Amino acid sequence: MKWQGRRGSSNVRTSGGKKVVGGGIGGIIIGLILWLVFDVNPMTAMQTGQSITGGQSSSTTTQPVTDNSRDTQFVKVVLADTEAVWGEIFRENGSTYQEPELILFNQRVESACGLASAATGPFYCPADKRVYLDTSFFAEMRHNLGISGDIQGSGSDNNQDKAGDFAQAYVIAHEVGHHVQTLLGISQKVNQARQRLSQAEANQLSVRQELQADCFAGVWANRNQKRVQFLEPGDLEEAIHAASQIGDDRLAHASGREVVPDNFTHGTSQQRVNWFKRGFQSGDIHSCDTFNSAI
Ligand SMILES: [Zn+2]
Repeated sequence: MKWQGRRGSSNVRTSGGKKVVGGGIGGIIIGLILWLVFDVNPMTAMQTGQSITGGQSSSTTTQPVTDNSRDTQFVKVVLADTEAVWGEIFRENGSTYQEPELILFNQRVESACGLASAATGPFYCPADKRVYLDTSFFAEMRHNLGISGDIQGSGSDNNQDKAGDFAQAYVIAHEVGHHVQTLLGISQKVNQARQRLSQAEANQLSVRQELQADCFAGVWANRNQKRVQFLEPGDLEEAIHAASQIGDDRLAHASGREVVPDNFTHGTSQQRVNWFKRGFQSGDIHSCDTFNSAI
């Protein structure tokens, strides 16, 4: 995967002190998106949009990251790539993409979804609209997957290096996929529905939500490829396989308590590959309706 020399996002940050953030006119915009993109009744869409952004608070401030490590640079570029692509897609649908922050943390972090540790794995917190990534995650991923990465700057054409890069980008794109689900009101609907369902049914719904995030990651890869031709041979297959080996990210719901690893699954490796490919082949989020399709 090619990534050097592109713009890096200013939304990659580290955690700091305390503050409160709130909603606003964003709810109306999101309602509009729901209406335009998903044919939801406009009034329901507005209300859902309002409830997404209204009155949410976060207890943690953030500050720009200062280190210039390869991993930080890489995360900045990939996040910027997602901003460009999702900004484009939302514009095409007559709305505005609200960029998430990505918080790089060391060992422990307090999110609006609760405390998380490195063991939690990368996750997205809908309550503060932030992606959380432990700084040791990529190193661990390289270690566990036997991928060397290109830290040495060898410039080697080894496909393993490239697959390692793309596997990391895929993880970020998947988490950003959860952010998009939140902006579109999908995650809220899933959470509400989950409460009325048996554990097994609720897990099934979570699987569909996860597979949609994979499909959104595929849509992103398609559009980013058209935009900057960043893929190299072998990236897709190896990276998808690699990503499917990585443990669940945690959709943390509870506020103010430890993020507890739960046992819902992301679906089988094959399902994940299929939905990623569907998004990648179409480049269209409408192909990602995992809730009304056989998975
Ligand atoms: Zn996920």
